[in-house]
Amino acid sequence: MVRPKKFLGQHFLRDANIARRIVEALEVTDPVTPVLEIGPGTGVLTAFLEEQFPTRLRLVEIDRESVDYLKTRFPALAGRMLHGDFLAMDLEEIFPEPFVIIGNFPYNISSQIFFRVLDHKNRVTQVVCMLQKEVADRIASKHGSKVYGILSVLLQAYYDIEILFKVSPGVFHPPPKVMSAVIRLKRNARKELPCDEVLFRTVVKQAFQKRRKTLRNALKHLNLPAAVSAMDLMDKRPEQLSVEDFIYLTQLLEKGEGDQV
Ligand code: SAH
Repeated sequence: MVRPKKFLGQHFLRDANIARRIVEALEVTDPVTPVLEIGPGTGVLTAFLEEQFPTRLRLVEIDRESVDYLKTRFPALAGRMLHGDFLAMDLEEIFPEPFVIIGNFPYNISSQIFFRVLDHKNRVTQVVCMLQKEVADRIASKHGSKVYGILSVLLQAYYDIEILFKVSPGVFHPPPKVMSAVIRLKRNARKELPCDEVLFRTVVKQAFQKRRKTLRNALKHLNLPAAVSAMDLMDKRPEQLSVEDFIYLTQLLEKGEGDQV
């Protein structure tokens, strides 16, 4: 067996029923879309995934000991197992077409995984994953909530997000210190935002870096046009703005609205 390594965020799920439910949450109806499992570990999800997607499953696992174990347990998958770091793999090269992601994520890097998903949002059509419940709540929360933040806005701009169910620490070896939750993100119909997407990301990040300040204050080094700065909207704090509000704000900044006044 594989000895769990804390620095790799290894908490192995021991409950096959929960593993089955996670795999069943993946809604793939076509026969070709590749399925990428991040961090298969000892293969509790992999067993169900192999049954359902025998020819289009790919695995990426950073831990050499797990990879060796998986190769003996799933010899048919040996050629589709990448020993490496998901955060460093060349997704463009390996998945030039749309694909979906599944996994019990290493909790220490789940935010970084989502930033990568955003970088490839037009090819990542769905994500089903288990992660720390707090992070799941944050990602799915709407404006007005205390936990609403950068990833909530950026992910909700492109994905419909559902929290599916909670999972308690006791079903893992070793048990994590936190509750877990399984969520599903499905790419929405928006091909691109009706504003400059790079500026949108900058505005959202800058706004939440100073979440206790008003937007006027938090965004002042973006050289706000005077007319924008004077708006009532700018008295608000970032957690009060919906995704649509952030898009609108980006549009204003893009146009330099008020510059001509
Ligand atoms: N899916 C397994 C293991 C979950 S623990 C289960 O449910 O039991 C998280 C897994 O992610 C571990 O196997 C860990 O080795 C792997 N991992 C951690 N960082 C990784 C990275 N950067 N890229 C790929 N896998 C990683």
